[in-house]
Amino acid sequence: MLYEKYLNTIDERAELFCNVADTIWDDAETAYGEYKAVRLITGILEEAGFEITCNIDGIPTAFKATYGSGKPAIGILAEYDALHGMSQQPCVAEKLPIPGKNTCHGCGHNLFAGGSLAAALAVKEYVDAVGRGSITLFGCPAEEGGSGKVYMARTGVFSDIDAIVSWHPEKMYMVRTRPSLANLSVIYSFDGIAAHAGGSPEKGRSALDAVELMNVGVNFLREHMPLTSRVHYAITDAGGLAPNMVQSHAEVKYLIRAVNAGEVRELHARVDRIAQGAALMTDTAVSSRVVSGCSDLITIPTLQAVANEAMHDIPLPVPTQQDMEYARALQSTMNLTDAEKEMPPYALSVRDPAPPVAHGGSTDTADVSWNCPTVQMHIGNWVVGTPGHSWQSTAQSRSPYAKRAMLYAGKAVAATIMRLMDDGEALNRAKYEHYQKTKGKYVPPIPADLRPPLREE
Ligand SMILES: [Zn+2]
Repeated sequence: MLYEKYLNTIDERAELFCNVADTIWDDAETAYGEYKAVRLITGILEEAGFEITCNIDGIPTAFKATYGSGKPAIGILAEYDALHGMSQQPCVAEKLPIPGKNTCHGCGHNLFAGGSLAAALAVKEYVDAVGRGSITLFGCPAEEGGSGKVYMARTGVFSDIDAIVSWHPEKMYMVRTRPSLANLSVIYSFDGIAAHAGGSPEKGRSALDAVELMNVGVNFLREHMPLTSRVHYAITDAGGLAPNMVQSHAEVKYLIRAVNAGEVRELHARVDRIAQGAALMTDTAVSSRVVSGCSDLITIPTLQAVANEAMHDIPLPVPTQQDMEYARALQSTMNLTDAEKEMPPYALSVRDPAPPVAHGGSTDTADVSWNCPTVQMHIGNWVVGTPGHSWQSTAQSRSPYAKRAMLYAGKAVAATIMRLMDDGEALNRAKYEHYQKTKGKYVPPIPADLRPPLREE
């Protein structure tokens, strides 16, 4: 195993990293409220000699921590936010909420934080030994619906980094090759005139009618947009609960996705016109505001190849008898596909990267990827068949196997970074591929004056 000496430091300090993951799981905090997690991580990094910069873009839970100076400058991402409505006991194989607790780690970001911290500290040992280069851990808040990295990216915090190596808990071990869609979230507000729906309906102008007509209009739009685009909506304010009233105010939130920001802009303009049409039909007024957005993911084949080699070089965690029993008990609660039934309950080998296929989802890591060459790894912390954002992924994210896979993630990220620091040619090739795809032009997808929904501790 290459870089064994540095990677072994992760096993030597395994207790620290597992403790970080468990503490963040226990103190689960949601988007922009991750104060305890940030204190825990930055405290450890500061003690290790990292220089900490807090409050990136004025966000109290966004930070960067750098060790060393100069080039190559490589970055690691860490996430630590949890999900609402995910209350679940850890390490059990049945749906069992924790009384009085509403927030839990259904996306494994507690592991994401612990594994990335492990990688940063291992690379620090390497930087000390070779006496060149720098490593920066970016603390990224609000991945779940808050697009924290988009706000960070628009400040330019990632633009002087040579490459970012990241990962995410999954059910397999594989370098991510698939791109993701750009998106924009827009709230349309309709205002009409309230009236008694029985006594004087002729005096009323219904904002709820306008929302319904807008949704019908967009349903017809769907046949005439690119197959790769998606438009979703939720009625966030139906105007009230009384049917004997003409609703004077109503709101609908749209999520518009497409393969790149340009196509999102075109689709956004068409959805805007449908909203105006709905207002015209109902004699109401419409206004709209963008509330979030992210770019499409830029993938870098050279970084994928380096990460893939590093992943193959490091031994995967071996599940114990107890892990296997837990895995089988969990799988008995899942709808496994025939292919999944054929697989061992935990992934036992690193898969070769798949040809990139279109994917309907989006990620705020995309905005990082527009600013510097970026690669992500999928790590098999969870049992095969585990649905994301589920009680099963929540329960497992504090389990012994998940944490051993987290240590593997730390090693895979650190090894990829050390390989890149020693291979200037690969790093240059990655930068060239990045330039070919972005032409060095990043346009933040959100309005310049949009602020994230920050929360006090
Ligand atoms: Zn996640």
